[in-house]
Parts: sequence; C-alpha cells; structure tokens
Amino acid sequence: TDMSLIRNFSIIAHIDHGKSTLADRLIQETGGLTEREMSEQVLDNMDIERERGITIKAQTVRLNYTAKDGRTYELNLMDTPGHVDFAYEVSRSLAACEGALLVVDAAQGVEAQTLANVYQSIEHDHEIVPVINKIDLPAAEPEKVRAEIEDIIGIDASDAVLTSAKSGIGIKDVLEAIVAKIPPPKGDRNAPLKAMLVDSWYDQYLGVVILVRVMQGVITKGLNITFMQGGTNHLVDRVGCMRPKLELLPELGPGEIGIITAQIKEVEQARVGDTITTVKNGASEALPGYKEVQPVVFCGLFPVDAADFEKLRESISRLRLNDASFTFEMETSAALGFGFRCGFLGLLHLEIIQERLTREYDLDLITTAPSVFYRIQLRASKTDPAEEIMLHNPADYPDPSRIEKIEEPWIKATIYTPDEYLGSILKLCQDRRGIQTDLTYVGGRAQVSYELPLNEVVFDFYDRLKSISRGYASFDYEQIGLREGDLVKMSILVNGDPVDALSMIVHRGVAEARGRHMCERLKDLIPRHLFKIPVQAAIGGKVIARETIAAMRKDVTAKCYGGDISRKKKLLEKQKKGKAKMREYGNVSIPQEAFIAALRMG
Ligand code: GDP
Ligand code: MG
Repeated sequence: TDMSLIRNFSIIAHIDHGKSTLADRLIQETGGLTEREMSEQVLDNMDIERERGITIKAQTVRLNYTAKDGRTYELNLMDTPGHVDFAYEVSRSLAACEGALLVVDAAQGVEAQTLANVYQSIEHDHEIVPVINKIDLPAAEPEKVRAEIEDIIGIDASDAVLTSAKSGIGIKDVLEAIVAKIPPPKGDRNAPLKAMLVDSWYDQYLGVVILVRVMQGVITKGLNITFMQGGTNHLVDRVGCMRPKLELLPELGPGEIGIITAQIKEVEQARVGDTITTVKNGASEALPGYKEVQPVVFCGLFPVDAADFEKLRESISRLRLNDASFTFEMETSAALGFGFRCGFLGLLHLEIIQERLTREYDLDLITTAPSVFYRIQLRASKTDPAEEIMLHNPADYPDPSRIEKIEEPWIKATIYTPDEYLGSILKLCQDRRGIQTDLTYVGGRAQVSYELPLNEVVFDFYDRLKSISRGYASFDYEQIGLREGDLVKMSILVNGDPVDALSMIVHRGVAEARGRHMCERLKDLIPRHLFKIPVQAAIGGKVIARETIAAMRKDVTAKCYGGDISRKKKLLEKQKKGKAKMREYGNVSIPQEAFIAALRMG
C-alpha cells in the first residue's frame, strides 16, 4: 500500500461514552459489516467485555474508505483496553498509531480517565481528533463539552465532529476528519524489519495470533523472524488483517497494522511490546518502550467442592493460554484445601478471571482477600544468609525477627469528582494512608491526586469511592514504585489455633481496627459449640482484638424428650452430614460458609 494512503488511529473514550458503538458504525459505513452483523457489537467480543462495557483485549480492524478526494484509504482502527489495569497494553496500542479519536459524551463531558488516556496519546505525538458523541440525547450540551475539551485538555476543539453513533449521524464526517487530520505513517521499506508486537491471543484454529505494527521493512509469509526480547525464532506462516474477519495478504509493509501467525504454541512467547525482526540481516536495536508486565495483586482461588480441584487446574490452564499476564501456582490451605495462588495486573483483571472461571467453566470458587506483593529484606540468621524475598502470600510471611525492612507498592491515584463529594473522598484517601499531591478545580469539578499504598486500594477502595460519590467520581492510577512501610502480619486464631486463610498483612496503624472487625464477623459466623471459643486477632504473640463465642446451652437432641427415637436419630444424622462441610480447628468445627463470608468482606 502507498503509505500516504494509510491512517492508523485508536479511539480514546471514557467507559460508556460510545467508543464501541462508534467503531461499529465506522466498520458498517465502510462496508465491513452488514446491518445484521451490526446488531452485535463486533469489537468487544467476550461476554464479560460486553456486559461490563469495557474492552479487555485490543482489537483492530482494517477499513477501506473512499474519501471525498476520490482516493481510497486504508484505515486501521485499533480498539484499546479501557481500564487502568491494562495501561501497558494501551501504551503499546497507542505507539502503533499516529492519531486518535477522542470520543466525549455530549451529556457527560470530560472524565478523569479520558484525561489520563489523552495525555498518553499526546505523549505519543498523536494528532487528536475530538468527537462529541450522543448529540441526540436531550441532555446533550455539545458547546459546553467543546469548551471543556479546550479548557481541560488544552486542544483545539473548534472543529470537533458532532456525532450520534447510535443514530448514525456524523459518521462520514468522522471518516473525513481521520483522512484530513491524522498524518500517514513513515517508514523505510528497504531497512531491516522492525515490527512491534502490539497484542497476541490464542485462536483454536490458528494457534497464537500476533497483532503487529510494521515500523520499517516488510513481513511476508515464509520469513524467519526473531523476537528480540523473548529471544525465540519462528517461521511466519500467515500474514493478514482483520476486516473484521481474517483476510490473508501477501505482505505487511512499513506503516501497516495487521496480524501474523508463526506456529507459536503459547502466548507467553509473544509478549506485548516485543520487537520482531528477521533472523538474517535483522535490526540491531529493538524498539523503545518494552516492559515486562508483572502481576501486582494476588489472591488464592479454591474450589468450594474439593472434588473440583482438577477441573479448576484445567480451567486455569486454559485461560492462561490466552492471557500470559496472570500467574498461578498451587497452594494448600488448612482451611480451604487445595487451590491456586494467582497473580493479576489489578483488581479488575482478578475479577475478570474469577468471573470467567465461574461462568464459562461452571466452577464454584472461594476467593481469598486480595493482597499485593511485598519486598522484604531479611537479616542473616544462624542458618540462613541475609537475603531479599518477594512475598505474595501472607501465609509465607517469614520469621519477624529476621525482617530488616518491608516495602510495599505505591500508586499515584487521580480522582475526578463533582465538588460536593470532595470532602468525603479526601477523608477516604486520608484513612487509607494517602498523601495528597495535587488539587485543582475545573468548572464545578475537582481533580485530586493522591499517593496511596496499593495495599489500601485493593481493600474495597474502589467500591467505597463509587458509593460515597454515588458513582460520579472516576479514578485512575499508575504505579510509582515501592516504599518502606510499618507492615505486620495479623493472624486470626480460633480457640487458640491460627487459621491460615484469614491471615493478612496490614499497616500497624490499622491492624487493631481490622482485627476487631474480623473477630466480630467471625463471632457471628462460627456456630456455638459445647464450650466457649475465643476468636482472636494477633500480631506475633500479641493479641490485639478478641471476641468470645459463648457455649451452647443445650444438646440439640434435648428437645426430643428422649421419646421419639427415630426423630432423634434423624437429627443426629443431620448433624453428622453438616459436619462433612466443616473444617476442624483443634476441636472447633468451622463451616466452610464462615470462611467464605469472612473472606468476601475483604
Ligand atoms: P464504550 O464503553 O465507550 O465502548 O461505549 P458503548 O459504545 O458500549 O456505548 C455505551 C452506551 O451508550 C450504549 O448503551 C450505547 O448504545 C450508548 N450510545 C453510544 N453512542 C450513543 C449515541 O450517539 N447516542 C445515544 N443516545 N446513546 C449512545
Ligand atoms: Mg466498548
């Protein structure tokens, strides 16, 4: 393709502002879709994505558009993930484009997350084409939103395109604006191949499919390629693009976005951000911006029914085929049995995997409270040398006397909220050990930045934020590295025995409150026994909170007056059956439901 006819762009939008609907319209307008296919949103192709209205994996489609100037352009539309957990994927998608459509809801205006994405897009030197969508809504205020885009984001919005993606208004104008405003890519066809690996996924028929952006050189079928970061070599066996169905092509030249397959078995080998070059006469320097993504949020996943363990193992392995960014290893817990310790990019990522396991694989799961990872410096002991460990599971907490220093991940959070909720939001951040770094007002709204320990955010922060702001506040974050913290392991003891699944790592300052809360909870959840049961929260050997479950007054069979033998028998049998789902702690039986309930509250 003549490079001057190529336009590569992504769409930036806050959730629900109409990104997917607009994308579908663009596909329909350029003939990629029939009216009937339009009825299903094409770009969001997983159930969960559709239900939650977010894009989890980047998808791309190629459109041919014959513009008013009579020339036919090749438009590559890249749909980027819409959630902060996938910030790195977003950055790679943006690096593959020269421009972006900024879609803003005409009734809602600019949101914090939009801002973060726009700034990223500007950093990639993108030409930004503002699109004010949903102008059909009675509450639409396109002129106000136009001014907002100029004031808040600082880009010229005088020729913003007004659209209704829903009713198909302004779609041609969007296409013309793309052609006119977004610059064509540049790249030398004769230079050594450099293609960026933008995304990869597993396809049942094709194996691992790789989405690439060619920066220079050409990719053809039969080429021997190498991944410069991953270090593996592969033979390209298909080259093509999505329209949105797969169409095979003879080659992908400089500036083009498309897909290749190369007989790769696992997505793990095809890492986002890697540079693809040829084995012979390849490029010597990789493209900038590669990062190895590391999971930051961890939790245990256990089958409710122990018999489902193998099924869980299989299901997790299958999900991993398509998502190399989560990790898992086997874990055993005295309370919950056999399961897996899993690592995720963030809370939403965790929820997505958990939900897919439950829904697609029909598994009944217990998820332990999410936690972050910690870097711990250990002093030398008589038997072990000084060392540094990464802790992913409170159960593996080392001997406290050896701990020199514990560091935890921190984030910079940006919250954007209507004024009236600001007070409660500041308090929430303060309660979570936040450090305020910035506060600005923009037309009746506040934008506040906080540095926060990630540990305090995985613990229901997002839900609290949404509830105190009635859903109006939006939130975005980036990781800013590890900082030392006064962190301790809090154990929960039932009748003197520690319950592994309930232990957690907390800041000393909040330990007592969390401990008390957990003890009160368990007091209601654990049934009475024939004896008194203490429930305690402890740090090291020191008890910081305590509740007591009173002893049961009567035997359950007492009310049968010893007369009705068969009834008494039945009752005893029922009791026995109930015991099957109990876990024994010393001589205390704790029903599985008690763990589930205690863990669900976080
Ligand atoms: P995304 O989260 O940005 O991908 O948003 P979607 O494209 O999924 O749209 C979110 C909701 O807004 C859906 O219910 C759409 O039907 C609706 N929507 C999208 N565009 C328009 C529009 O132009 N007008 C109106 N009234 N609704 C729209
Ligand atoms: Mg969408």
